[in-house]
Amino acid sequence: MRDYTREIDFYCRRLFPITRSITGDGNRESLKILQEIVPIDILEYPSGLQIYDWTIPDEWNIRDAWVKNSRGTTLIDFQKNNLHLVSYSTPLHKTVIYEELLGHLHYLEEMPEAIPYRTSYYEKNWGFCLSYRDFLKYFEKGESYEVFIDSDLGPGSLTIGELLIPGLSPKEYLISTYICHPSMANDNVSGMVLTAFLARELLSRSPLNYSYRVLFVPETIGSIAYCAMNTEAMRTVRAGLVISTVGGPGGFGYKQSFDPGHYINHLIEQAFFERGIGFVTYPFDIHGSDERQYSSQGFRINAATITKDKYYEYPYYHTSLDDLDFLRPENINEALTVYRRLCNKLERNLTYKNLRPDCEVMLSRHGLYPKTGGGILPAKNSPSEVDAMLWLLFYCDGKMSLFEISQQTGISLETLYETAIRLEEKSILQRI
Ligand code: ZN
Repeated sequence: MRDYTREIDFYCRRLFPITRSITGDGNRESLKILQEIVPIDILEYPSGLQIYDWTIPDEWNIRDAWVKNSRGTTLIDFQKNNLHLVSYSTPLHKTVIYEELLGHLHYLEEMPEAIPYRTSYYEKNWGFCLSYRDFLKYFEKGESYEVFIDSDLGPGSLTIGELLIPGLSPKEYLISTYICHPSMANDNVSGMVLTAFLARELLSRSPLNYSYRVLFVPETIGSIAYCAMNTEAMRTVRAGLVISTVGGPGGFGYKQSFDPGHYINHLIEQAFFERGIGFVTYPFDIHGSDERQYSSQGFRINAATITKDKYYEYPYYHTSLDDLDFLRPENINEALTVYRRLCNKLERNLTYKNLRPDCEVMLSRHGLYPKTGGGILPAKNSPSEVDAMLWLLFYCDGKMSLFEISQQTGISLETLYETAIRLEEKSILQRI
């Protein structure tokens, strides 16, 4: 298996410093970098567009922001860390007293070194984030402060990256990640990079059995906008993956899709077992990422997420400590091997129809049976290729998938797939 660690590291380092939000030039710049990996199409949906219950907001761009004390010393500087500014802060330049400023400062007493990540997308507001240590050091009652935010908030558009990878079947799998977080490495530079590498790999495998719809969206508003603008296509997606937080030092895990019995969950577990990786199972929850939109009643896409140091779970989550020291590119590479194995399984989960359903097929007539009869007894534990053929011919009715046949018979999906290909070549099975 190729090791992409160095290449992954190169892209993580370039993407990490960019100021991203739900809209803005940082998202375009990030997608442009990802276009070096895969040919992503860039879609722009205009501000004000009604998308179901939501409206695409004005576009936000930021040039500079700082807070100075009365002696002109800069206490908080956006140029040093883009997490210092609450995302979507409105433009501002004024002097405020301590008491007023306090309502606009965010820090974490329980993690005094960390700058928290905060946003105010839909409520016009402004704010700064800083470590509790700096707050205690620099701010005091009775002082006044000069606040400067050089941002634009006005009509523009929301930017989405889309890549459609056609396969032999028009039936699609969705692969989606989010691009709206500024400088945090595991959440979600890791997901953006892994998604691009996975897409590149799928693109290189031709022909694929299934088609893939790969999306790079601002979380929530982006997936809602995409669903609204591509309703018919999204309603027919078979299943999906939402890629997030895949590069931390902690353990692997996966968030199940809403139907725990769905094959995508079983196939993820198989992929972990086969690679000898321990994992935590997180049952579906209504909180999370864009699976909330994709799994909503109108779409009901079973979308799962494989993680390494899952969002919500690691202590540095949504803080400045989720940085390039916390993220390990080799972890992303390892997560990529699990996703790759999963995609191999999705590719093999085909559905066939037996073209000779009336009584048994005479396998020897098609060169599919050992020449001498009598010597073959049904194997108790390890099924032979003849067993796999007989079970396929028994179950392939044009409805039952190879995964379901695998569940019924205990024969691996991989064996069933290889055997089905042989029967397809003999025109005994037909792919649906
Ligand atoms: Zn997040």
